[in-house]
Amino acid sequence: MTKFIQNFEKKVKETIQKYKLANKKEKIIVACSGGKDSTTTLYLLKKFGYNIEALIIDLHIGEWSKKNLENIKSFCKELGVKLHVIDMKKELGKDIHKLKTRKVCFICGINKRWLLNKKSRELGAKKVAMGHNLDDEAESILMNLFRGNIEFGLNSGPKVLMSAKEKKFVQRIRPLFFLLNKDVKKYSQDMKLPILHQLCPHSKYSYRRQIRTLLNKLSLEDSKVKSKIVKWFMEKQPELREKYASKDSVNYCEKCGEPCRNVICKKCELMTYIK
Ligand code: SF4
Ligand code: ZN
Repeated sequence: MTKFIQNFEKKVKETIQKYKLANKKEKIIVACSGGKDSTTTLYLLKKFGYNIEALIIDLHIGEWSKKNLENIKSFCKELGVKLHVIDMKKELGKDIHKLKTRKVCFICGINKRWLLNKKSRELGAKKVAMGHNLDDEAESILMNLFRGNIEFGLNSGPKVLMSAKEKKFVQRIRPLFFLLNKDVKKYSQDMKLPILHQLCPHSKYSYRRQIRTLLNKLSLEDSKVKSKIVKWFMEKQPELREKYASKDSVNYCEKCGEPCRNVICKKCELMTYIK
């Protein structure tokens, strides 16, 4: 085992322990996409002995979805991890990726979050492990900041704080929270994890991609810029939580019964406009 692999695994273990992300008895659903982050999370949580099952949402985005699904199916078999495949088209009754709009990522993201929480809860999970890394977090912080929605980041961090939240939310954990994207990439390549190194064909329209380009440019000048952004936001979070405490209350959607912030959840609101 190389020094890099040792350090990488140590850092993930330390994040899990320091932030008390999970214990070994509770059921964790690993949200898989077929990408390097979630596949690395799946591999490491299994290696560390956690009680995991995997879940992948079949998005029906042509060959890209097919290949990701194949990879996850065979990797779960190899690891001895139970896999749940959720069919987005069947669940929503329509194929949102065929819509002629540049907002596909926005629509896809809301529906993925809705499905992931609902299905994980129905499967009896106590936690949902996400593959988000430090770059993803820095991007999310800037996206919220630039859109004037900094309070959307209140659920950021290695784990979502649940004190004020309702039981129908399954707590999200992010074991790779402090790992850089380039290090996750190197780890997954060194470990020869089965990953399709190809972006979703819709990603060229995403706002996240523009922010990523900007952050990567800034990193050429200052290699620590991403961790500085994340550190700044983590320090700001308690203050923001206090300020936005009333907005953090939980209701149930009148249409689907899932937890949300308003009378109707974002997913149901959005889907009424989509024919
Ligand atoms: Fe969905 Fe956009 Fe991500 Fe593709 S890039 S999986 S469409 S959110
Ligand atoms: Zn709803």
